[in-house]
Parts: sequence; C-alpha cells; structure tokens
Amino acid sequence: MTGSDPRANLYGATLSGLERIVEIEAQPRYRARQIAEWLYRHHAPDIDAMTNLPAPTRVDWNDRYRIATVQHHQAGTSGDGTQKHVWDAFGGDVYETALIPEASRLTLCVSSQAGCRIGCKFCLTARKGLKQSLSAAEILSQYRNLPDRDRVTHIVFMGMGEPLDNADAVIDAVSVLTSDWGYGLSPRRITVSTVGILPELERLLDETDVNVAISLHAARREERLPIVPSENRYPIADIVALLRDRARLALPPFAATGRRRLSFEITMLDGITDRPAQAAAVRDLISGIPSRVNLIPWNPFPGTQFRPSERTAIEAYQALLKRAGIMTTVRESRGQDIGAACGLLAGRRESRVD
Ligand code: SAH
Repeated sequence: MTGSDPRANLYGATLSGLERIVEIEAQPRYRARQIAEWLYRHHAPDIDAMTNLPAPTRVDWNDRYRIATVQHHQAGTSGDGTQKHVWDAFGGDVYETALIPEASRLTLCVSSQAGCRIGCKFCLTARKGLKQSLSAAEILSQYRNLPDRDRVTHIVFMGMGEPLDNADAVIDAVSVLTSDWGYGLSPRRITVSTVGILPELERLLDETDVNVAISLHAARREERLPIVPSENRYPIADIVALLRDRARLALPPFAATGRRRLSFEITMLDGITDRPAQAAAVRDLISGIPSRVNLIPWNPFPGTQFRPSERTAIEAYQALLKRAGIMTTVRESRGQDIGAACGLLAGRRESRVD
C-alpha cells in the first residue's frame, strides 16, 4: 500500500510474487511474465498501459492494483560530476542516491533504508537513526526513475541504510534488477555492501549472485566493536568463517572460476583503523580467501573526534597488503562538496533544490 491508496502496488513485485497474484485473480500463469515485462521492460506507467491484458481485466484490476514509483528531486551536482538525487518515500521519509561518473563507468549508489540503525560511529547516516526500511518499489525507483538510467553501468548498495537489515526487499530488488523478466542487468555489475548480518548474509550468498562487500574496518574484535556496534551480535570472526567456508567449498560465489567478487572495505581513520599492526591483522584474517580490499579515506563531518588518515598511512597500509598478494585499492572520494560521498548521505530536506 502506498500513502492512502489502498490498492496493492505491482511495481517492485518479483515474478513469483506476480505468479501468486495471477493465481489469486484466477488468471493464466503466463500472465505473470507478461506483467513483469510491462513493469520492467516497458516501464508501464499504469495498468491501462498493459495492452495485452484483456480490457475487462484491466478495468477490474484498476480497482485493486496500481503501479506506483517514487519521484526524485535532483539535489545538486558536485564539482567532480557526482550527482545527488533525493527521493520522498511513500511514507514521507527522505532518502538519497548518488550517481558517480568515472572514466568508463557510471555507478549508481542506492539506498536500502531511510536512515540506518546500525550506528557506525564514523558514518553521518547513522546519526539519523532508522526512519524506515524501503520497499522493493522504493529501492528500484532509484534506478527506474533516474533520467540517466540507460547509461548506468554499475549499481552499488552503498547509500543510506544497512541492506541486510532489510534483506527481503533488497533480495527482491536484486532479483528484479538481474532477472531476464526484470531489468536484465548482470549481477557482476551489482554490489551489496554490508556490516555482515549473519543469517541474511547467508541468504544473500544463497539467493543471489551479486558481488558482496564486507564493511570490515578492523580485523580484531576489540577494535571493530567500538566503531561498528553490530560486531557485538555478529562477530567478524564468524562472518569471515562463513566466507572462508564458501570459498573452501568452492561454491559458485568464490570458486576459482566463479566470478562473484568479494571485497572488504576499510574506512581509514587516523590512529583508529590505519595502523600497520591493523593492516597485518587484516592480512592474517582474510588470508587465503579470494577477495580484494578497498581502502576508503574517511569523509569528515563535524561533531566527531575522528580525523582522516594521512596519505602516507593509507599508502603504507596498502603496501603491506599488496606485499601479501592481496589486491588493494584506495577509493577516490567523490561528491564530498554536495554531501554525496560515502557516509555523508543524511537525507536532509534542505538539500533539495527543486
Ligand atoms: N551500510 C552498508 C553500506 C555503507 S556505505 C555497510 O555498512 O556496508 C559503504 C562504506 O562506506 C561502508 O564500508 C561504510 O562503513 C563506509 N563509510 C561510512 N561512513 C563513511 C565516511 N564518513 N567516510 C568514509 N567511509 C564511510
């Protein structure tokens, strides 16, 4: 249900969800695929647009179903070309998307929740707390209603929210994005970033084929717990054990030939996460797991005691991992001047310019 409209929203439904609906409606099963194609191939704006549904069915369905998506307001373009879009969720909360142009890519960074309840100490979104988890329709609208949709090459779930704190909607959205009846995007071009909520991480590995990024930040529990509170319930040792297990079993995710990519993200905080002993601990923790490491220079915001790492510290950290044969990249900060960089999406209404 969206707003005060009691009709069920078809947009965001997976093929199996549509199959349930056509069964309830006593329609032939093949209709489900037809409807999916209207929704995700032809971007049908309403039920009436689905011209291969019988006319009486369209009239009848209009009373009970609708196609509702969320509209955006462009909220600014950074000096480096990064755009921020602000969306009003059906329930009225605000969430944001960053669109990041790079040499040969256009990366869409989507939100999975308005706000977040994990509480990572160095993340601005965390300060908002959780306003609402987004429905699959609200997640997918960030792609569907983007003016540059057809130019997007990569989608990363690295906007606001913890994707695995909203696993049902995120897994449905991934299914719509990657299925032939949906948007038909390659799962190799989609990455879900997570602090590692264990049962849902297992589901993500089992039920999808997308790339996975784990917000590691620190390898040792006593150093991760103070900055990533979910460490308390889901220890990094258990998360890595699960990933190692999958690698050992050589299941599609991480088999030598498998192409799903696993990465570990480390936000570089001066004196907190960037010390050489911590780089060594990360090396030891992930050794033998086919993966790469992404170092993220911390994007500062007022009111914390954190400081961004010195460039030399980041380089030393990277060099130590590289010596161990671990592919390690440093993420370039994009969109900082418009609050669109990692961890700066705060869903402020005043950031709108429409
Ligand atoms: N909730 C998801 C996605 C977060 S955004 C997750 O935790 O994985 C992607 C990465 O940016 C995460 O690793 C997150 O910890 C990191 N991050 C958050 N705030 C940041 C900031 N201010 N500067 C740099 N990185 C930040």
